[in-house]
Amino acid sequence: MLPELREKFAQIVGEANALSAPDMIESYLTEPRELFGGLTPLVLRPATREEVAAIMKLANETGTAIVPQGGNTGLVGGQQPDRSGTQVIVSLSRLNKIRNIDISANQITVEAGVILQNVQQAAEEVERLFPLSLGAEGSCQIGGNLSTNAGGTGVIAYGNARELCMGLEVVLPDGRILDDLRTVKKDNTGYNLTNLFIGAEGTLGIITAAVMKLFPRPRGKAVAYVGLKTPAEALKLFTLAQDKAGSMLTGFELIASLAMAATLIHNSQIRSPFDGGASAHEWFVLLDISSTRSDEEARNLMEEILGQAWEEEIIDDAVLAANRGQEKDFWTLREQISPAQKIYGAEIKQDISVPIPSIPDFIREANADVEKMLPGCRIVCFGHMGDGNLHYDIAQAEGDDSQEFLSHWKEVSHHVHALSMRYRGSFSAEHGVGQLKREDLVYFKSPVAVDLMRSFKRLLDPKGIMNPGKML
Ligand SMILES: Cc1cc2nc3c(=O)[nH]c(=O)nc-3n(C[C@H](O)[C@H](O)[C@H](O)COP(=O)(O)OP(=O)(O)OC[C@H]3O[C@@H](n4cnc5c(N)ncnc54)[C@H](O)[C@@H]3O)c2cc1C
Repeated sequence: MLPELREKFAQIVGEANALSAPDMIESYLTEPRELFGGLTPLVLRPATREEVAAIMKLANETGTAIVPQGGNTGLVGGQQPDRSGTQVIVSLSRLNKIRNIDISANQITVEAGVILQNVQQAAEEVERLFPLSLGAEGSCQIGGNLSTNAGGTGVIAYGNARELCMGLEVVLPDGRILDDLRTVKKDNTGYNLTNLFIGAEGTLGIITAAVMKLFPRPRGKAVAYVGLKTPAEALKLFTLAQDKAGSMLTGFELIASLAMAATLIHNSQIRSPFDGGASAHEWFVLLDISSTRSDEEARNLMEEILGQAWEEEIIDDAVLAANRGQEKDFWTLREQISPAQKIYGAEIKQDISVPIPSIPDFIREANADVEKMLPGCRIVCFGHMGDGNLHYDIAQAEGDDSQEFLSHWKEVSHHVHALSMRYRGSFSAEHGVGQLKREDLVYFKSPVAVDLMRSFKRLLDPKGIMNPGKML
């Protein structure tokens, strides 16, 4: 990058927030999967939407590629520059103000760089719930959550980031500011522009603020682990639980024995709810029920569901958490699967969704195919069954050569993705497309859909400066 151009960018944010020294920019180039780390001449840290707008105006005039970055927790490389060393990172971390909380409307207006956990805390302080919750919540930002349309554990009851968002403020690639911070539920005045930027992974503009929905804070909870034989039984349990609990059903996670074993082996301080540990049953379900009234209401409902499931021989065993501490432990056992599964060695990971009634058939078919393709592999399947999302991860056979195993990634992943698409599901349920799934996007989406996406991109970003090389 020419020194004069660097100087102009630095003037917008101040020299202290224009980082080029290797030790200062290292953390912006290190990402969770260690697959996509790129190079950059400059990291800019604007503090206001006006600074973001000025950066984009200059980038547009000079044809400088910009990569928006939130908490840098994305799993598909969308927040990383390429290796050309020409793409400038714009970090949103300093846009970290909560602009407004309105408890009568149940809404919170936040800047894009506010960390998800801080939004949850701000809601809690006014006796409300912000239900978006995921493993990276201590570092990911609301702008990143919206740009990836993040999901997590609460989607079953509250929806994903898109469904939690009322409106956005966005800086367009030419530096104009779109103020679409709508707070009204009813507004039928043309295209929903906000929706275009949610899940766009920073390819159409930079989100600078959002109006998000809040909910009444649950005052009661009941959490249980259930052991059962097959995903087909889990589906029966889900149908029953939904029927009885309706919107009070706030978690329904399916966990294969091998997935639970990973957490238990990796974290010796986490205990199994069952005497036989992870081998007590082939499959487990984590059930979570919330009540806005009391623990008693939640527990009664849970007991009713489990009682009927037992009578109908859907479940083989159930353990109800006795107190808040145990409820937390039950969730930790589920949430620690992702980091723990590395004990199995190299893995080929898929984040797919299929319609909920198809989950048992999908798992059966996928297991049979994958075991044929990779004899001896270990399938670590778990996920948010209540919203159709499965993390269908495949670990190498014990003693296999990791590099040889990983050389099958493309072929095996493509097969699993194709299967999920055959069930009219998705090849990327939560994590997005980024750099990892660009080929899949073109392969699996209809040509009409891809054409429309490219048209929107050209319309908003004719110079192709907004996060190039991602998604499309
Ligand atoms: C341990 C762990 C657990 C996870 N669990 C889940 C989960 O349960 N569910 C789930 O959905 N995801 C999960 N994720 C991945 C998820 O995508 C991210 O955690 C999160 O949503 C991304 O937010 P971020 O601020 O880190 O964004 P980043 O990683 O910085 O960026 C992600 C994408 O959004 C773009 N972007 C970021 N900020 C902006 C902005 N303000 N305007 C425009 N574009 C922007 C980037 O360019 C990039 O394309 C997990 C990740 C980890 C590491």
